[in-house]
Amino acid sequence: MAESPVITRFAPSPTGRLHLGHAYSALQAHDFARERGGRFLLRIEDIDAGRARPEHVEGILADLRWLGLSWDGPVIFQSQRLPRYAAALDRLKAEGLVYPCFCTRAEIAASASAPHGPAGPLYPGTCRALDPAAAQARIAHAPHCWRLDMARAAAAAGPLSWLDADAGPVPARPALHGDVVLARKDAPTSYHLAVTVDDAAQQVSHVVRGQDLYEATHIHRLLQALLGLPSPAYRHHAMLTDAAGRRLAKRDGAPGLADLRAGGADPALLVSELRRGRVPLGIGADRA
Ligand code: GLU
Repeated sequence: MAESPVITRFAPSPTGRLHLGHAYSALQAHDFARERGGRFLLRIEDIDAGRARPEHVEGILADLRWLGLSWDGPVIFQSQRLPRYAAALDRLKAEGLVYPCFCTRAEIAASASAPHGPAGPLYPGTCRALDPAAAQARIAHAPHCWRLDMARAAAAAGPLSWLDADAGPVPARPALHGDVVLARKDAPTSYHLAVTVDDAAQQVSHVVRGQDLYEATHIHRLLQALLGLPSPAYRHHAMLTDAAGRRLAKRDGAPGLADLRAGGADPALLVSELRRGRVPLGIGADRA
């Protein structure tokens, strides 16, 4: 039987231009596919209408081209795929695995002694306890998100594991995340739902992304099981750090590719240094 082709993707959110950390991540996914004769896809994760900007999309494509990276097939935009996410959510609704949540951020923050999960305080479950008929009536006029009923969902799915491309099977621990949001108040999906639906729709065989998303994989594995979707293998690459060991992030002043380009940086040199896991000398290491 022929082995299925390797397909990876880079999935930036167009809330700004790419910095060196993104470039490193894009290279990791790109090279993983190319070294195996596979395909490398580009997906723009623009479901956050308040923060995603078309000019950033153009900028991201220009940044990737400047690096010399090419991708296969058309660029996919999540903003054009909302009905697919809605259909996935409908399926979970029909199975009674999600519930509407009317809590504001302030209410959640104020709820005493919320336990913490990998991504911060866990939702205390207030709206899980609402009478379903009353909640249904409130949906029509009150802003709400949709949350996964984690205990129920985890029980429905049973024990799961996901495949780490380097370490082998890893037991999935989605329950640590509590009742995560699957559709936001301002968008008919959330990152977790959209990424799960799209990785399957694009037949991604290996999700190569940063270590910062390692914990999210537990949730994605559960959603795959609930939605009857295949589970790709995962590689979570180390985060690029500067000479002082600090993770490169835009908010901490990581150099943007556009600035490097404007400053006359040589993209080929940049890429070869990044491929060695090194931040090119003089870049990102000299910040206060
Ligand atoms: N859109 C996410 C980000 O920019 C990446 C999603 C993923 O690779 O799963 O952080």
